[in-house]
Amino acid sequence: MRPVVARLTRRVRRRSLRGIVLCYHRVAGPRADPAGLDVLPSQFDAHLALLGAQAQPMALGAFERARRTGALPERAVAVTFDDGYADNLHAALPLLAARSVPATVFVTTCGVGAEGEFWWDALERGCSVPHPLPARLSLAPPGHVFTWTLDARAQAGDVADALDARRPLYDALKTWLRALPAAALREAVAQWQAWSGTAAAARDGHRTLRVDELQTLARSPLIEIGSHSVTHPLLGLLDADAQRDECMGSRAALSHWLGRAPALFAYPFGEGAAVTRDAEAAVRAAGYDAAFTADAQAAWRGNRATAVPRIAMQAWDGAEFGRRLPLWFDE
Ligand SMILES: [Zn+2]
Repeated sequence: MRPVVARLTRRVRRRSLRGIVLCYHRVAGPRADPAGLDVLPSQFDAHLALLGAQAQPMALGAFERARRTGALPERAVAVTFDDGYADNLHAALPLLAARSVPATVFVTTCGVGAEGEFWWDALERGCSVPHPLPARLSLAPPGHVFTWTLDARAQAGDVADALDARRPLYDALKTWLRALPAAALREAVAQWQAWSGTAAAARDGHRTLRVDELQTLARSPLIEIGSHSVTHPLLGLLDADAQRDECMGSRAALSHWLGRAPALFAYPFGEGAAVTRDAEAAVRAAGYDAAFTADAQAAWRGNRATAVPRIAMQAWDGAEFGRRLPLWFDE
C-alpha cells in the first residue's frame, strides 16, 4: 500500500475503534455551582435522549473489555458519575431507567453516610452566605496556614451575588485546600465553617449517599459501583503507603457494603498530579481491572488500562450537547 493510503487506512481504523466515557457529578440545580458539577435534570434527560439516538450506550465494564481488544462498537459511549452524591439515586437513576442507559457511579467512600458536605461544597456554601463576613480570614490547621483579606464588596452580605464578589477567595482557597493532607483538610474546613458561620451538617441538595441508598443504587441492573478513593486526595501527591490505603481501603469498604469488590476506579480530580505512574501502580496492586482519568479524550485500544480517559460533562442544553457529541469521538 502506498504510504498515504496506509496512513489514511490506519486513521479510519483507529477512529472506528474509539469510544467515549462521559463524566458527570450531580443531576441538580439550578443554583450556585462555581465548581461546575451540576447538570440540570432536563439537560441530563436531553443528553440521554441524544445518546440513545446518535450513539451506543454501554455499561462501562463491557465498554472497557471491548476497548482492550479493539472491539468497541461504532459510537460506543459509557456514562459515569463521580463522588457519590445522593442525587445520583434520586434524580439520575429514574432518568437513566426511563431511557435504559447504564451508568457507573464512582464513590468516595468517606462520603458514604457522612453528615457533612465534601470540602468543595462547604467552601462554596461559606462564600455564598448572605451575611457579612469578617475582613480577615486565617485558617491554620497544624503545619499549614492560609490568610486572606476581603475587600469591602466581598465582606458585604447584601450584594446581589455574594459568591461572585467572593470568587477570588473561593478560587485561592480551593487551590490551597486541594493539596492539604486529609487531617489538616478536616481541620481547615471546620475552621472555615466557624469563620463563615455555616453549619457542618450537609444541605439536602448537596448531601452524599447513605449506606442504604448506595445499596439501593447498586441493586439497579443499570448501575455499577466503582471506587473513587477513600478521601478524594490528589493521589499522585501521596506516598506509596497512603496511595495503597486510598485504593485498597475504598475497595474494602465497598466490598463490605455491597458484597462484591468493585472492578473499576476513577482518580479523584483525574488529571495532572492526580494520575502518576505511582498512582497507577497502586490502583493495579489493589486489584482493580481498570482506572479512569479526566483527560478529555476519546478512549481507544492504545490507552493503558490504568489511565483510560473520560470527558467532563457540563450543564449543556440538548442543542449544545448534540453539537459536541460527534466531535468527542475525534478528540
Ligand atoms: Zn471527584
